[in-house]
Amino acid sequence: MNISVIGAGQMGNGIAHVFAQGGHQVTLIDIAQASLDKAIATIAKNLDRQVAKGTLTAAGKDAALMRITTSTSTADGVKDAELVVEAATENVELKLKIFKEIDAHAPAGCILATNTSSISITKIAAATARPAQVIGMHFMNPVPVMKLVEVIRGYNTTDAVTKAVMDLGRAIGKVPVEVHDYAGFVANRILMPMINEAIETLFQGVGGVEEIDTVMKLGMAHPMGPLQLADFIGLDTCLAILRVLHDGFGQPKYAPCPLLVQMVTAGKLGVKSGEGFYSYTAGSKESKVAPAFAVAS
Ligand code: NAD
Repeated sequence: MNISVIGAGQMGNGIAHVFAQGGHQVTLIDIAQASLDKAIATIAKNLDRQVAKGTLTAAGKDAALMRITTSTSTADGVKDAELVVEAATENVELKLKIFKEIDAHAPAGCILATNTSSISITKIAAATARPAQVIGMHFMNPVPVMKLVEVIRGYNTTDAVTKAVMDLGRAIGKVPVEVHDYAGFVANRILMPMINEAIETLFQGVGGVEEIDTVMKLGMAHPMGPLQLADFIGLDTCLAILRVLHDGFGQPKYAPCPLLVQMVTAGKLGVKSGEGFYSYTAGSKESKVAPAFAVAS
């Protein structure tokens, strides 16, 4: 299948990786050539890791890399696509603009999927002339490792399109789960309030970064504490998702913690910027947030 992936950030490179490894021809598209270069280097490094573990042959790695081409033009990059998976920045206006452009240039039968964490599939679909063929295909981070794909039906998405995407998910070794289109779907409607509450707990000085994460790791058997997970997801993405939940349901419980807003404004985005609740140097983490952030410490 010809698959175009739009956005070559942390999710886009993983999505391109799993489709290419699954035997599909992938065109990876980004506005920034630097993002494309970094994505190809990341995919090669992650495939190397699979070879080192013995879960992929060296020939398999080379074949997967050969199946990926890159483009800085959406119009050109989707013109032969049978499926487009959009994984650009979590911003509703940007996604509506991208979907208008994809719709204008992708073949008529092409399915248009979005990896959005929270934005309404129905709203994105309404920006196109083919809402029946628009669907959410929400991969988890890191994509090559995580089994879940949340498949979100928009108001107009057909059974046939849903089945095609569920089947494709299974064929690349994932476990697709079908859900309906309300803000945050299932995954982030439950996860983001927990992350926001962890940040609020830090903000109020109830516990430090390590203490909060350790309580949740050892007490609730979570593999990673909520603050480390927030860094991993990207604090800008967490903030964007909370705003979608807040707007979508109009309930104060979804209002983002002021500390999260401050950190994003200050450019502290987590792993991708090198600093969030922890600082990151060459893959290691150390506790970072100063107690001065906490109002009641
Ligand atoms: P990111 O910031 O790492 O990457 C976004 C990429 O989109 C960047 O490379 C940027 O250059 C590119 N981009 C921006 N505008 C573009 C355009 N007009 N055309 C093409 N490319 C464009 O973000 P990410 O974490 O990879 O998130 C991408 C999407 O995946 C978001 O919708 C996010 O909500 C969703 N998502 C994120 C996670 C996560 O853990 N980070 C998990 C699941 C889903």
